[in-house]
Amino acid sequence: MNIGGAIKYLNRGLTHSGATYADRVAPSSPRARAATHADVDSTVAVTPTGETRTALVRRARRIQRELAVVYPDAHCELDFANPLQLVIATILSAQCTDVRVNQVTPILFARYPDAPSLAAADRAELEAIISSTGFFRMKANSLLGMANMVCDRFHGEVPHRMKDLVQLPGVGRKTANVVLGNAFDVPGITVDTHFGRLSRRFGWTDETDPEKVEVEVGSLFPRKVWTPLSHQMIFHGRRCCFSQRPACGACPVARWCPSFGEGITDPVLAAKKIKTGSA
Ligand code: SF4
Repeated sequence: MNIGGAIKYLNRGLTHSGATYADRVAPSSPRARAATHADVDSTVAVTPTGETRTALVRRARRIQRELAVVYPDAHCELDFANPLQLVIATILSAQCTDVRVNQVTPILFARYPDAPSLAAADRAELEAIISSTGFFRMKANSLLGMANMVCDRFHGEVPHRMKDLVQLPGVGRKTANVVLGNAFDVPGITVDTHFGRLSRRFGWTDETDPEKVEVEVGSLFPRKVWTPLSHQMIFHGRRCCFSQRPACGACPVARWCPSFGEGITDPVLAAKKIKTGSA
């Protein structure tokens, strides 16, 4: 997409409304006065932004609907064909890009097509295959431990319950939610670095603990959108709402974001920062 197109498409929130969320809740606005009132009124839920709980839910769902329009193909960017492959790829993705993991996994999956073959893998050979993903000794430990437990306790099949998945070496709630949502169609919120950062920028939570973020953000949405929301947030974090200098001026959800202005607000400069394709 050229810059002009990117501005026109991604910045439509700003151009349509002429005002950002921050403008609309400026201290002199009725909403801000209501928010201030909410702070001292114990009958009104206190939210990170001072909105009423109802307003927060509405705004959060509005953002999600827009992200769904902007990123209609948001999906898990790790390549996999079955639950075991997704567990393996997700373990390898720690501190590594999905693109790099996808370069390694075809060889890995061909060499170890199931849990028993991975459990019996030669450690040196396994480490050599995955070395380019970084932290390869620790990841080899996780892969061997995970495969052995899958064989010993789950008859060679990756379990499909959270309480079982998190028992596997190298698998925490984040990985478990990726596997549940994408391999078993069980709704789950994946709180990675992008999801956590965007949730706080959106004012959906002020928690930094991933499990608390998962619970608080999950409570704003129906379960059926948890998995697609996870992908949409990660897509937006990789392509627009960067950790450093987010592209606010070309952001499609700027009008509902209380953090507008944390990054580049000039539409032309911001559009140049937008990433497309695999990020
Ligand atoms: S890019 Fe800026 S306006 Fe958009 S979500 Fe991130 S902080 Fe908010």
